[in-house]
Amino acid sequence: MGDVDVLFLHPSTRVLTAEGEVVRYLAIPMGTFALADLLERSGYSARIVHTGLERMLDPSYRVEDSLRMLEPKLVGIDLHWYCHAYDAIELAGCVKRYSNAKVVLGGMTASFFAEELLSSFGCVDYVIVSDAELPMLELTRAVTGDGDVHDVPNLLYRKGSVVKGSGRAYVASGEDLDKLTCSNIRLLKDWDLYIRLIHENDALSPKLKTQGWLMIGRGCSVNCSYCGGASLAHRSIFGRQRPIFRSPEKVVEDLRVFEELGISCAYMDFDPYPDRKFYYRLFELVRREKVDISSQFLVWSLTDRNFVREFRRAFNPLYTTLTISPETGSESVRLLNKGFYYDNQSLLRWLEMLEEEMVPVELYFASGLSGEDVEEFKKTMRLGERILRAYHNVVGASCSPLFLEPCSPRFLMPKKYGIRLKFKRFSDFYEVYRCFAEGAVPPSRLGYETEHLDEPRIIELSSKFNEMVNSLMMSEKANPMVE
Ligand code: SF4
Repeated sequence: MGDVDVLFLHPSTRVLTAEGEVVRYLAIPMGTFALADLLERSGYSARIVHTGLERMLDPSYRVEDSLRMLEPKLVGIDLHWYCHAYDAIELAGCVKRYSNAKVVLGGMTASFFAEELLSSFGCVDYVIVSDAELPMLELTRAVTGDGDVHDVPNLLYRKGSVVKGSGRAYVASGEDLDKLTCSNIRLLKDWDLYIRLIHENDALSPKLKTQGWLMIGRGCSVNCSYCGGASLAHRSIFGRQRPIFRSPEKVVEDLRVFEELGISCAYMDFDPYPDRKFYYRLFELVRREKVDISSQFLVWSLTDRNFVREFRRAFNPLYTTLTISPETGSESVRLLNKGFYYDNQSLLRWLEMLEEEMVPVELYFASGLSGEDVEEFKKTMRLGERILRAYHNVVGASCSPLFLEPCSPRFLMPKKYGIRLKFKRFSDFYEVYRCFAEGAVPPSRLGYETEHLDEPRIIELSSKFNEMVNSLMMSEKANPMVE
């Protein structure tokens, strides 16, 4: 089956525990599917291998098996999320040891640290900085013998010890996104298992729910302090001034393919404008086209009742939920950290409205926010408990310690947000995930401490919240009628 033009290798986040290796964060960036499909439609052959999934299926799996079988000319490794910092480089090293393929990295983390990646790791030939569609097409053309890599837009490469670029820039528009198809997940080896496991990363036991991530657009209109995908990052990395959307028609085409592939729930995490004009058109089309699928929709701000009704009418209720991240019970902390602010009373009224509309909801909280101390976190505990006791449509609530995200406002302006950075370079992210993969204790787990809280305390606060949630859920199971 050799002679594939481009092989996309998805890295894994491996954690070595006393019980053995666990693979975390299974999702593949949506753009990887779009790129592989774009290459296929342009006359090249492309495949995707999820190395973590393959290791879960067969612990003796080695990436060299895929390289030998497919003999790619170019290997694309997504380094979008920082949690793949270590494994992306490990994979690049393997490609160099076991094949003659060129290695290109892309994604937000790779874009942000492009120069360091090329200066420090000889196994990385190229980095695509920002949008990758046209660059990947031109790079493939060049690597397969018909073009010059030095002319590829958004591409950085090494010449001797110097990092260089073509000087050509490409910023994708909404029209460009409309030329993409994001649902060709059959290009992924073992895709049928992937859609079962993408929402469950703790065990390889097929679940009834199957999920696909839906590409709706790119960018954000606000800046949450902790987010590496905020407006600031899109402006500085991508040169994108405002969010862009695909057309509702293209999104529905992908939903239709999801349905045909047996995907029961579409994961939708793109909500940059509170007026949500785009979604009214999309929901109408989903209904008109009679697409039968559930939606896990992550709202980035509170919605009105009309939106909730239209949402509920559009999707199969089986796995349909709304998810919101208030992050904290402290209004002053929320104001400092979140781009879309709402007070607690508004949040509670919104939950009440969702209960009336019979829409299940999940909530995410965080510890380690700027301006948060132990007293402020007590407000998070109180709000979480109040919500869980009062609203029966809340199907999940959890709290996580914030991890330092590259290119987030806190990373770029630590003083303004009252944090001390422990991670500054790519090598810091690489090191922490190397430690996780090898079962060692990393020098820092979160990459920062705040002016009020050190790392152990931040981690402990999240644990306390989750213990409270578990005990409330257990007591509700034991006494379902007790309020
Ligand atoms: S709303 Fe906040 S968390 Fe969501 S993408 Fe925008 S900046 Fe990031």
